[in-house]
Amino acid sequence: MELKGKVALITGASSGIGEGVAKSLAAKGVKVGLAARNLSKLKSIEETIVQAGGEAFAFALDVTDVDSINAGVQLLKEKYGTINILVNNAGIMPASDVDTFKIQEWQDMVNININGVLNVAGAVLPTFIENHSGHVINLSSIAGRKLFKGLGVYCGTKHFVAAFSDIMRMELGKKHNIRVTSIQPGAVATNLFDHISDANYKEGMEGLRSQMTFLTPNDIANSMIYVLEAPNHVDVSEIFILPTDQE
Ligand code: NDP
Repeated sequence: MELKGKVALITGASSGIGEGVAKSLAAKGVKVGLAARNLSKLKSIEETIVQAGGEAFAFALDVTDVDSINAGVQLLKEKYGTINILVNNAGIMPASDVDTFKIQEWQDMVNININGVLNVAGAVLPTFIENHSGHVINLSSIAGRKLFKGLGVYCGTKHFVAAFSDIMRMELGKKHNIRVTSIQPGAVATNLFDHISDANYKEGMEGLRSQMTFLTPNDIANSMIYVLEAPNHVDVSEIFILPTDQE
């Protein structure tokens, strides 16, 4: 599939994997819609992409707020005419043990990592159905295949994303010619650990950086380009991508 001229909506594009994917897709000629809450960061990424010769459009969007999603989708369609690719990437990972009862963090994870994916899919899929074409890439995780202490709720959300992706693929592929891919990375060098409020888990997670060579957002972007560029009759439904030295 030729990517040049396609339009992508990328959630969580203000840092980490989303930012890397936006830059890589833009370098392939994709017109990228940059969505997240921090508009000033998005604007500076937009500027970098445009200066490099790409096309990008930044707008504020909170994946937990359906009105802001609908407004963002509308803006992007007005700007570029349609949407061909959705990268459902926004997510958070505050780690803690169950018996510390960080209930707000559990709810935030469910709202962003699960409801956020559903909300954005719900807003974009009607366009894909109308076009009888489209590709959804959902960010699951190694935590969508394995369980880790301290990541109970996070693992639950990422198992959900993997399961829902495959159901989407089954229900949307044959009927609407929509491809769906779940990407399940191991450790990637991003800001994901910044929001861990539990000091022990934060230290433990940060310590992983010296134990293995983390993937880069660019590594994840390359895996996405592989699935997006595959011929239309090929749906790479899952990618499990790890640092070579991650067990
Ligand atoms: P970052 O913390 O660097 O990026 C997270 C992004 O999500 C930010 O752009 C943030 O933007 C956005 N975001 C958070 N909440 C919302 C919200 N309510 N609405 C819109 N955007 C939101 O982390 P990563 O790049 O690592 O994470 C990206 C995805 O990859 C996540 O789903 C994560 O679970 C997954 N993943 C990451 C791995 C890793 O090792 N890093 C491994 C496996 C999966 P803003 O704050 O501006 O809204």
